[in-house]
Amino acid sequence: MVSFIALYRGPSLSAAELVAVSADPVLVGHVAGALLDERARAGSGTDDPATVALTEGKRHALELVRDEAQTQSAPTSQGATHRASSRQPATAGERFGTPRPEAFCPAPGCGKRFTPSRRLRGDPQRFCSDRCRAADHRARRRARQEHRAKGEC
Ligand SMILES: [Zn+2]
Repeated sequence: MVSFIALYRGPSLSAAELVAVSADPVLVGHVAGALLDERARAGSGTDDPATVALTEGKRHALELVRDEAQTQSAPTSQGATHRASSRQPATAGERFGTPRPEAFCPAPGCGKRFTPSRRLRGDPQRFCSDRCRAADHRARRRARQEHRAKGEC
């Protein structure tokens, strides 16, 4: 199982648009912990057994998610270091993401070093720019056509 943290923005919850989603265990653990604190402060506010059971169940689920996320984020030690010295400013990348590996753009005539952006779906970014992606695509298509032309001889 994977837990996700989603950020919505809009005039109301029903009209809100999804802005970002993350499965980063440091972020998930942090948010789950904060929600637990919030619930603890708010109190139950009802004695209806069904509502209490529901609230207890959600609280327990949040605890499980938090503990799981903390276990996952512990071995990297980066999140723990930042938690321990929380006054120290950290960039969003340091706090909420693993360092991204650099890659070399494989487009013909480029070879530029760049940091591929992370994507939720699909393949990771392979080229430094859309222009290089298109250039590589054209080169492949040309090579394919030449290969086919040779085959016909
Ligand atoms: Zn390039």
